[in-house]
Amino acid sequence: MASAADYSILFEPVKIGPVTARNRFYQVPHCNGMGHVRPQAEAAMRAMKAEGGWAVVSNQETEIHPTSDLSPSAEGRLWDARDIPALRLMTDGVHAHGGLAAVELAHNGHHARNHLTRAPLLAPSDLSVDVAYPRQARAMDKSDIKAFRQWHKAAALRARDAGFDIIYVYAGHHMTLAQHFLLPQFNDRMDEYGGSLENRVRLTRELLEDTREAVGDTCGIAMRLAVDEMRGAGGMQAAEEGRAVVEMLAELPDLWDVNVADWANDSVTSRFQQAEGYQNDYISFVKQVTTKPVVAVGRIGSPDMMAAMVRKGIVDFIGAARPSISDPFLPRKIEEGRIDEIRECIGCNICVSADCLSVPIRCTQNPTMGEEWRRGWHPERIAPKGAEQAALVVGGGPAGLECAMQLARRGYDVTLAEAGPEMGGRVIAEAGLPGLSAWKRVADHRLYDLSQRGNVQMFTGSALDAAQVLELGIPNVFIATGSHWRADGRGRSNLAPLTNDGALPVLTPDDIMAGARPPEGPVMVCDDDQAYIAGVIAELLAATHEVIFVTPAATVSPFTELTLEQHRIQRRLIEMNVEIITNHRLAALHGTAQIACTYTARLRDVACASAVLVTERVRETALFNSLRVQDHGLRALELIGDAANPGLIADAVYEGHRAARNFERDPAEVDAEYFRREMVALSD
Ligand code: ADP
Ligand code: SF4
Repeated sequence: MASAADYSILFEPVKIGPVTARNRFYQVPHCNGMGHVRPQAEAAMRAMKAEGGWAVVSNQETEIHPTSDLSPSAEGRLWDARDIPALRLMTDGVHAHGGLAAVELAHNGHHARNHLTRAPLLAPSDLSVDVAYPRQARAMDKSDIKAFRQWHKAAALRARDAGFDIIYVYAGHHMTLAQHFLLPQFNDRMDEYGGSLENRVRLTRELLEDTREAVGDTCGIAMRLAVDEMRGAGGMQAAEEGRAVVEMLAELPDLWDVNVADWANDSVTSRFQQAEGYQNDYISFVKQVTTKPVVAVGRIGSPDMMAAMVRKGIVDFIGAARPSISDPFLPRKIEEGRIDEIRECIGCNICVSADCLSVPIRCTQNPTMGEEWRRGWHPERIAPKGAEQAALVVGGGPAGLECAMQLARRGYDVTLAEAGPEMGGRVIAEAGLPGLSAWKRVADHRLYDLSQRGNVQMFTGSALDAAQVLELGIPNVFIATGSHWRADGRGRSNLAPLTNDGALPVLTPDDIMAGARPPEGPVMVCDDDQAYIAGVIAELLAATHEVIFVTPAATVSPFTELTLEQHRIQRRLIEMNVEIITNHRLAALHGTAQIACTYTARLRDVACASAVLVTERVRETALFNSLRVQDHGLRALELIGDAANPGLIADAVYEGHRAARNFERDPAEVDAEYFRREMVALSD
């Protein structure tokens, strides 16, 4: 284990204009599905980051005016003074733990929808809104630009009143007016705000000057800029205009927060970008161009890389959204030399999915994320055990591992039994699929923690039946036996099992993950799950087989829109020559595959030599059921994870965590409390 001293460079204070960050750990703005709708939840989540040692804790894009309304998304809101108290909760919380609070002021231009406000939409040029909705934004005239500058300035003043220390001008993610003006693809103006780069930069320059004039004496001014659109010569490139913009504005802000656009590139999943610090190639020029401190991201989780990035002069601050979500205490753990305890982000973007759904943020690795206020969960603390002494957890998948780890942290003597040759369950299996190796960290983190504890016994190769469970004599039993994929075709769009004459070999995802491969010839991957597994399996098999991908959906793996990957997955399958048949479900297997159009039910045969059915999962409840039917004198018996409700790995971890937290609590109390809610006020 590295000593804390190796990383002392990360704990040097850094000035950001008139304010000083206590160290180099900087939580950049990130969405969280709480925002103005759930301000207490957001405040507690942000405060937790400050408690965990982050020197700067930002909120997320914060609408400055009703013409920038992102409803129903729950972003920040600072339309007028009535929004100040909600944001004050966050700044107070961050300050209480010694952090600086940053606000990301935003006007979203034609990325706004104004569904709530029905206000006019504004853009550099006449532009359709960037989702499929029949509204257009109008080109801003000079009076619109003047008004916009005033709104931004007024919002900066309100942000200061709310207690923020750092105020952003935001030109990134293709999401804000400042960036829309910068990019010729959105800006075809002929006046002094369009045409040459100098003209396109004008608005951003004015926003920086306005913000400085308004609040620059007491607040740091941060400039968030996407220096590269990752569209090659078809867009802004770091080596060309991206650099030129930074050169033009070099000393105007107090801090440069630089990244790449769009959001799917900035927050790329580990499936499509395995390398930590993947943005360094794009942003490393920035420090050569400005004397102001620079922060950048790239799913940077390793302290060695962090220290190297500072030493090499690539950044002054280690920026993080996802690593701060998976481990809010990352800075403290580094400072205290507890490197092995860091809960590393796996790059799955389940955190992003929650924001896309406008529900509170969640995280596969950190089940307490988003639960700080409503359930009072702390990522590093858990109540000590009550009267009970021991617990048995059956099943070493994500649910069982998390449950066992938290029970052990509470002080119980924990026995964890796993049938397979190694711990990890579905995490180990799925991590073997193309691009998903980082997911193994879900198991690694928990196994490391469990291995450090004296009150834990772990057994692999131990498939337990009811008699063996009872023989152990442990009165509290958590069953986390998981699930397996069905082979009969039943699923979302085939509620009855499939007609199958048995002639065609059929495999399930479990078979594939266990190493089985289809026979020679074309294989049909039938995706009634519509999440990620079928797309990954198609990618795997396309390396050796002709693959036909059939989905009732209109696109491949539609769930993965929520993790910002859908376009990448579909592109990859097309590039691998997978034949994609959308809007069809599997109807029957009779020597070959018969598929049905989801609109007309029209049938057709598709020749193939085998099929992989990705449909639904069957819960493994045999052990639970046999323990439950008789009174065996067990004091606690609970079914958790995929065995209770097949879902995401994140759901299994969460349920394991919740079961461990609630153990020995009065069930009536747990049920009555459920969680705290933020209620709509009934008066103004
Ligand atoms: P979850 O996502 O709910 O944690 P997984 O399917 O990943 O579920 O993990 C369940 C684990 O439980 C698997 O590794 C499986 O081998 C193990 N398991 C299932 N039945 C038993 C049993 N009777 N005894 C011990 N382990 C079991
Ligand atoms: Fe990382 Fe996944 Fe957690 Fe997001 S949900 S922070 S990507 S582990």
